[in-house]
Amino acid sequence: MQHHPENDPQYKGLTVNQGISSPPVINPYLKERKKRRNFTPVEYVEQILQGNITVLSQAVTLLESQKSEHQLIAQEVIEKCLPYAGHSVRIGITGVPGAGKSTSIDAFGMHLIHDRNKKLAVLAIDPSSERSKGSILGDKTRMEEISREPQAFIRPSPSAGSLGGVARKTRETIILCEAAGFDTIFVETVGVGQSETAVHSMVDFFLLIQLAGTGDELQGIKRGIMEMADGIIVNKADGNNIDKANLAAAQYRNALHLFPLPPSGWTPKVLTYSGYYKNGITEIWDMVYQYIDFTRENGYFELRRHSQAKYWMYESINEQLKNHFYQTPEIAEELIVKEKQILNSEISSFMAAKQMLDKYFDGY
Ligand code: GDP
Repeated sequence: MQHHPENDPQYKGLTVNQGISSPPVINPYLKERKKRRNFTPVEYVEQILQGNITVLSQAVTLLESQKSEHQLIAQEVIEKCLPYAGHSVRIGITGVPGAGKSTSIDAFGMHLIHDRNKKLAVLAIDPSSERSKGSILGDKTRMEEISREPQAFIRPSPSAGSLGGVARKTRETIILCEAAGFDTIFVETVGVGQSETAVHSMVDFFLLIQLAGTGDELQGIKRGIMEMADGIIVNKADGNNIDKANLAAAQYRNALHLFPLPPSGWTPKVLTYSGYYKNGITEIWDMVYQYIDFTRENGYFELRRHSQAKYWMYESINEQLKNHFYQTPEIAEELIVKEKQILNSEISSFMAAKQMLDKYFDGY
């Protein structure tokens, strides 16, 4: 029995009863329930090719897993799906939080599914956000209408990690979705930071959602992002905001004139619309498909996909080399020593880097 000092006679009137052990936090039956059949890579591929969304989801979970045995299976599944991939239009969608991405994706999705007979997968790249920690529910409530559509597949961003890692997983997910028959892929990202570049490097068309009256159009903020855009759409052109939206659109058009013509040969278009009231949606998608036809004809579509494929090979090599370097135990130990030496001015940063790399490559 545990000794409680409070039970000492000097603390009259105070007794502490013997407690009871708390019940286990984890439901003991959960283990049984969670057991699911493990597919072989070939079985995964068969089910994915038949458009089985549940198995597609499981395969994506596998490729997002950190475990090496999961990675092995996932990579085999991806490789086997590759010959069936590529037949989609991939669209990147970006805009600052509050620009109306969720509302717009919902509206775009309904239009594409019902008016253009498309099958839509919505993926995301958001390495910073807590939202990305697998909250499918969160994403489904953000896109309420399409989440009820059997022709739509919504998958939140792979959970937080390095941007390169998150982006690679999203790119691999695109392959699986395409093999499962999705002919339209959205890759959404928040309009801050480097994630736009990553999205740009995996899509055919990059759509930038802007708002009127934020001052961006005048200050030239996010110029880099504007330069990447194949189309700029000004949202919330409704009610008494229509004039402001039109004005903003005119300013974007002017600003775009100052940029050199992009390598696609396509002059980015600027349109206004209302995602909430679903006005101007058809025009946006006419524009996107016009671009696709235009670049298919002049060869840029293929060219962009080829250079993206090369880019991802190098990205993948860089990422894995870096991981291997930092995860080598002797290197990790030595790095701590080197950091101290740098702080004590015993060695320059460049010399330290050289010594570390020499040490690493000497091992091979
Ligand atoms: P996100 O953060 O970019 O995903 O933006 P949301 O789609 O969540 O939209 C942010 C806010 O803007 C919400 O309150 C929406 O209801 C509102 N909103 C989105 N689209 C429109 C629109 O076309 N018109 C108006 N008036 N409001 C909109």
